[in-house]
Amino acid sequence: MRLLFDDLPQGGAIRFSDHLEEDGATLVRHACRMGLEGIISKRADRPYRSGRGEDWVKSKCTQRQELVIAGYLPSTASKKAVGSLVMGVYEAGKLIAVGRVGTGFTAEVASALYKSLTSIEIKASPFAGKLPAAAGRGVRWVRPELVAEVEFRGWTHDGMVRQGSFQGLREDKDRREVVRETAGQAPPVANPGAAILETAHLTHPDRVLWEDEGITKLGLAEFYTEIADWILPHIVNRPLSLLRCPGGSQKECFFQKHAWAGLDEDLIQRIRLGDGEAVAIRDLSGLLALVQAGVLEIHPWGSTLKSPEKPDRLVFDLDPGEGVSWDAVVQGAIDVRDYLQNLNLESFVKTSGGKGLHVVVPLRPKASWDEAKAFAAGVASTMTKASPALYTDTMAKRARMGRIFIDYLRNGRGATAVAAYSTRARAGAPVSTPASWEELPTIRSGSQYRMGNLAARMSHLQGDPWADFGGVDQVVPKAVKRR
Ligand code: ATP
Ligand code: MN
Repeated sequence: MRLLFDDLPQGGAIRFSDHLEEDGATLVRHACRMGLEGIISKRADRPYRSGRGEDWVKSKCTQRQELVIAGYLPSTASKKAVGSLVMGVYEAGKLIAVGRVGTGFTAEVASALYKSLTSIEIKASPFAGKLPAAAGRGVRWVRPELVAEVEFRGWTHDGMVRQGSFQGLREDKDRREVVRETAGQAPPVANPGAAILETAHLTHPDRVLWEDEGITKLGLAEFYTEIADWILPHIVNRPLSLLRCPGGSQKECFFQKHAWAGLDEDLIQRIRLGDGEAVAIRDLSGLLALVQAGVLEIHPWGSTLKSPEKPDRLVFDLDPGEGVSWDAVVQGAIDVRDYLQNLNLESFVKTSGGKGLHVVVPLRPKASWDEAKAFAAGVASTMTKASPALYTDTMAKRARMGRIFIDYLRNGRGATAVAAYSTRARAGAPVSTPASWEELPTIRSGSQYRMGNLAARMSHLQGDPWADFGGVDQVVPKAVKRR
């Protein structure tokens, strides 16, 4: 079996990939967990010949298929552009509706689609059956001539695509051949968050927030709805700092630490903290209200509303200076873990969604912020003294040249770190992603996991890599605390 791991974010255009003789299903699972698109395998006893045939098998991590465009809704955010597409498939020669696709197109593609679709507009719906009124409201129907390739998360119970993302037009495909492909697919899943998303109020759902990925506000809301169970434990009932980018990740962004005018107080709470103030959310509706407010990054305090003055987690933020290799960052995280383990502290690792890694230590809220920060400073300074060529505990740019800054300053009162599973307002729509220590060496960058590949990763994981996080009972050690 030969693998083409050609989707890794780092390295040259063409690389040799050695063959792996392993069980195919296990390999696919690994590839998907790593955020790859899939694997291509060849029968080991056949020669290497290009072209279609039985000898090669393509296994994809995400579901993709062609769908027929039956109509569109104009964008509410920009002129002469589509906001979402109304899709169908053929069943026994009849076109039937399979829902909408509202993300995946860049502004440029949205304009091009608008142009093509306005030229084939028709008066009435091309679907065979009658649609529920809500499904047809505001839709401009078109002759069902264009076929789009769509990536999606599977089918809902009522036969609609979940989280469809537009991948491009397929000019080579005959629309009559477009049917629901079900072979080898996961059974439909219920998503309890979908009902909450339905009722969420989103202005300009079709505003493109990540231009390079074509991810819209609706796409972001769908993403968080999909992973709600994973992110909510890290962001509810905590003081939050929010990175808001109302015009998208490429436009102006600002950190918001206080409540703002026009905020929906049923969903986003205004919190008093001593003589200061912060905001907090309780649930998925609150998270979707943040999306509505243009929040692209969520940065919680390391403490909860119940005891805001006592941190329930520490974060060591590993910031590689110029010239530091990724392998050194991985080793740095492992060194932090080992150091903490010697003090009987368990820790967990996540990508930052940027350049580095964050090592997170769950705590029973007992020590004060000052005690926690003093302990974290001790860890950074001891590691720096032991390996001054590798690490620094000084923020100064010069000290960081060729070294990893072990940023312990995230552990002061009012300081934050980006939440596990928060998106980042950076190129590629990366996500700060928890990983297990075992798989850490297979990760190739801090931005490997993105909105585009995270759901596939999660559906191929055999368990939450941070499953034990909530069950750890530990406190800041006394001996080091006194230093
Ligand atoms: P990277 O791996 O690229 O360093 P990061 O999230 O660790 O990603 P840093 O620049 O190291 O980014 O910042 C660490 C944390 O400090 C952020 O996650 C954020 O919570 C906080 N932070 C950074 N800049 C600001 C700011 N201007 N206002 C408030 N908090 C900030
Ligand atoms: Mn950092």
